Parts: sequence; C-alpha cells; structure tokens
Amino acid sequence: MTEPRSTRRRFVRAATAGVAASVFPRPLLAQGSQQRIVVIGGGFAGATAARFLKRADPRFNVTLVEPNPVFAACPFSNEVIAGLREMRAQLFGYDSIAMEGVVVVHQAAAAVDGRARTVTLANGAKLTYERLVLAPGSDLRFDALPGYDESAAERMPHAWKAGEQTLLLRRQLEAMEDGGTVVMTLPALPYRCPPASYERASLIAYYLQTRKPRSKLVVLDAKDTFSMQRLFENAWQEFYPNLEWVPVSSGGNPTAVDATAMTVSSDFDTYKAAVANVIPPQKAGRIAERAGTADRTGWCPVDPITFESRLVPGIHVLGDAAIAGAVPKSAFAANAVAKICAAAVAKLVRGETPAMPKFVNTCYSLAAPAYGLSIAGVYRPVNGQWLEVEGAGGVSPVDAPRAFRNQEAKFANGWFNTITSEIFG
Ligand SMILES: Cc1cc2nc3c(=O)[nH]c(=O)nc-3n(C[C@H](O)[C@H](O)[C@H](O)COP(=O)(O)OP(=O)(O)OC[C@H]3O[C@@H](n4cnc5c(N)ncnc54)[C@H](O)[C@@H]3O)c2cc1C
Repeated sequence: MTEPRSTRRRFVRAATAGVAASVFPRPLLAQGSQQRIVVIGGGFAGATAARFLKRADPRFNVTLVEPNPVFAACPFSNEVIAGLREMRAQLFGYDSIAMEGVVVVHQAAAAVDGRARTVTLANGAKLTYERLVLAPGSDLRFDALPGYDESAAERMPHAWKAGEQTLLLRRQLEAMEDGGTVVMTLPALPYRCPPASYERASLIAYYLQTRKPRSKLVVLDAKDTFSMQRLFENAWQEFYPNLEWVPVSSGGNPTAVDATAMTVSSDFDTYKAAVANVIPPQKAGRIAERAGTADRTGWCPVDPITFESRLVPGIHVLGDAAIAGAVPKSAFAANAVAKICAAAVAKLVRGETPAMPKFVNTCYSLAAPAYGLSIAGVYRPVNGQWLEVEGAGGVSPVDAPRAFRNQEAKFANGWFNTITSEIFG
C-alpha cells in the first residue's frame, strides 16, 4: 500500500490547520509547588483530569503529557467514515487547557518508575511526581488475530483510533468498485465502546446503500449478543438488506486475515474483501503496561473510589485503560470518572477521605442519519467494585416513532458539543 506516508502528512496538515501552537513552557516543573501531578494522555479522561485537578486546587502543579498537538476524537468518527461529517469537526487543541494553568508537554511518556515516582519522556526529559494520572486509552493487540499486525492495518484499517485510520477507511470505501464486499470483524469483550462497532456497521451499510448499491457488508462478530441489539437489528431489518451480521454461534468468530490476498477468515468461511475493517482485540495503552499497572488481562485494575491502581501506589488510572467493574469504556464515562478522580486526589492530598462517588453514563449511536439510539446507566461502587444501579438506566424504546429517533440524534450532537467544549474549549 502506498498510502501511509502521504496519508500521515495530509492528516497532520489538516489536523494542525487552524489550531494555534500549544505552549511548551520551561522549566517543565515550577519551583515550590505543593503537589506535582503528572497526567499522561490528553484524551477524554486525561484532558478532563488535568483541567479539573487544576480547578480543584490552583496550587497544584499539573503537567499534561500528550504527544499530539491536536486530539482526534473517536465519537462521531463513524460519521466521518460514512462521508456524513468532515474530520475537522473531530479535532481539538490544548490551548484552553494550557491557559487554565496546566503545563502541556507534547511528548510521549516512554517510561514510568512507580517507586522513584518519575516519568521519562520520549525526548529523554524526566518529570517527577507525587501523583500520576495515567490515561493512555486503549491499544490494539497486534498479536491477537493471526495476520493482523501494524502493517496489515495500513491495508485493512481498524479505524479504532481516530485520525489517519479514519480517513484511510473512508478513502477505501470511496475508491471501492460498486459490487465489492466490505468485511468488518468485531472482537470479544472487553474493548473500547462496543456500541460504536454496531453504529459503524449501520453507517457503512448506509454509505453502501446510497453510494454503492450493488455492494454488501458482512460483519463477523466474536459475540452473540450486544447492547441495544434489538434496536440495531430492527433498524438493519428496516433499512439495510445489504448488511449480513454473522454472530459467533453461526461461525462469525474472526480467526485470521491475509492483508495481501485481502481475505478474512472466520470459524466457518473465508471472505474476499474489497475493503476490510478489522477491529482487533484490545488492551490498555502500552505505557500502562510499562508502568506495571496492567494485569494479565492487559487492563488496569483500580480502586473504585480514587481510581488509584491496585498494583502501583500513587498512580491513578482513568478511561479506557482501567478495568473498573461495570464502568463502560466510553468517552462519557472517561470524562465522568476523571472528575471523580480529580476530586478524590484533592481530598487525599489534604489528608481527607474522598466522597463516595456515583455517575451517569449515556452512549448515543446513530443507526442512520437523524436516527439516534441511546443506552444510559447509573453506576456506583459496591463492595469495592463499580456496579450498575438496577432499574436506574435504560435504552431507547423499541417502538419509538421516527421523531423520537430524530430527537435522540440531536441529543447525540448536543452531547458531543458539550463534552468537547467542557474539555477542550
Ligand atoms: C468509532 C468510535 C466511536 C465512539 N463513539 C463514542 C460515543 O459516541 N460516545 C462515547 O462516550 N464514547 C465513544 N467512543 C469511545 C471513546 O472514544 C473512548 O472511550 C474514549 O476516547 C476513552 O478516553 P481515554 O481518555 O481513555 O482515551 P483516549 O481518548 O483515546 O485518549 C488517550 C490519549 O492518551 C494519549 N497517549 C497514549 N499513550 C501515551 C503516552 N505513552 N504518552 C502520552 N500520551 C499518550 C493518546 O495520544 C490519546 O490522546 C467511541 C470509540 C470509537 C472507536
């Protein structure tokens, strides 16, 4: 594939257009600060945490470590893939966070020493901390699906991290001849935002139906059930005869890919793909492993009240990287738990007891343009683990009229605008 380099350049150009350069103040750590708090990862969890830690106590010396000057958000990136939205609507800079007094360092964290309480950056610089917030999101397991490694991802994009991969999948769909088969593979739980994979299937089916009517989508799924299943299946039945969902019990489990031959194998079959969107199994962002906070599952167990790692004291793990009982791997939850963690850290450093937290999560998905679905839950810690409060949440009604779906699509937009302006605005 010849795309990756030029794709990257194009994306970086697009990404940096209109976003002013972020600050890189020196020295990295101000003198005489009360608490040095380093936050690794400027996504939904980390950027929220940095901002709310500074608000919790302006004397905190908060440093946000994030390699990219511009954040590309995953929510609504499925709409970009389906040609319903432009990538620029997904991009956010860090200037407002810096203006609030957070030191923003555009470097990757390369190592964490939990005993010495230091973070080594990719450029060799070292930061010391009293508390570390680790929010690197999730990483793809390139050793889990035979044939699927980083170079295969350049031909068979996962698009499960927004940015170049999102645009690559979009361009492949645009370039595909009418009549080709698009194959999607979905992993077993847990992984980042499972409902988004069914939203993606819906919107790719929508794209094919409107632009490539002789094409079809085959979804090979390592699961038999998923959230909002009835709602999605009803929408597929109503709108998308071109979408075939193959659950694990019908042989849908993806077993291997061949990026050269463009084939995807499942338990029962091998499919020739014109475009393949391979979403592999996942784990916490690599730096979490290096910090010693990930367990054998690949995810990071945490205390439910403070989000402090159960494995390395002084490190709080937030967002997708954490495994915290029923807490969903969503941007909504990442933002909510980051605020809980910021408040808990402020109490801990004053020697006070953090309050018992509780939060709401709502995930919106589009099954078609102006056709929104949602699932909501309320979560609280019980006996050391986050549980969903029974009877407090719910999903969109199955028999809702079209106006209701339209309204939910508007709520989805409103949610995205609100959360991104709270974090980055
Ligand atoms: C297609 C799709 C659609 C989605 N739609 C929704 C939705 O509608 N609603 C919803 O609530 N959620 C949605 N999600 C889920 C949501 O995107 C994630 O749950 C959310 O981004 C998790 O936040 P996070 O901060 O943990 O990780 P991220 O937002 O991924 O942020 C992690 C950050 O850490 C940085 N980082 C990684 N490693 C390092 C390092 N070594 N040093 C420094 N920085 C590092 C990365 O550059 C990144 O900026 C969707 C996901 C996908 C894939």
